[in-house]
Amino acid sequence: MAKKATRPATKKKPPKPGAIPEFHGTCGCGSVVFTVRGPLSNVTWCHCSKCQRFHGGPGPYASAARGALSFQRRDGLAWWDASPTTQRGFCRQCGSSLFFSDSNEATISLCPGALTSPTGLESQSHIFIGSKPDWYEVKDGLPQHLKS
Ligand SMILES: [Zn+2]
Ligand SMILES: [Zn+2]
Repeated sequence: MAKKATRPATKKKPPKPGAIPEFHGTCGCGSVVFTVRGPLSNVTWCHCSKCQRFHGGPGPYASAARGALSFQRRDGLAWWDASPTTQRGFCRQCGSSLFFSDSNEATISLCPGALTSPTGLESQSHIFIGSKPDWYEVKDGLPQHLKS
């Protein structure tokens, strides 16, 4: 009887070192679905008054190269011109906060709550802490900056 070649059970391989990371995101209702193919920065929390209004609290952001972002669905995506150089992206159907874009920056920021976990991201710092409202404290030991 011929010996059959035994094949090892296929195992899920961890991503190769140097492989391009990929992140998947969506708004709450699925009218905006996107992929980031490339590295994302760790998360910076912005405590400025504009982020407070947009998010209902401090705004968490991770940034990526603009070219790394692609959309699989964007019919819900709307942009608010928050200033002459900045735009805030959200879903017009469900209201999810999704993006922050500054035309002076090579990167685009996204709200990491939209991403599918696990992301592997960590919080790294707090900015505009001088504008923080009085109803919460930041005591996580991460660096705090008065402005950006
Ligand atoms: Zn939505
Ligand atoms: Zn802000």
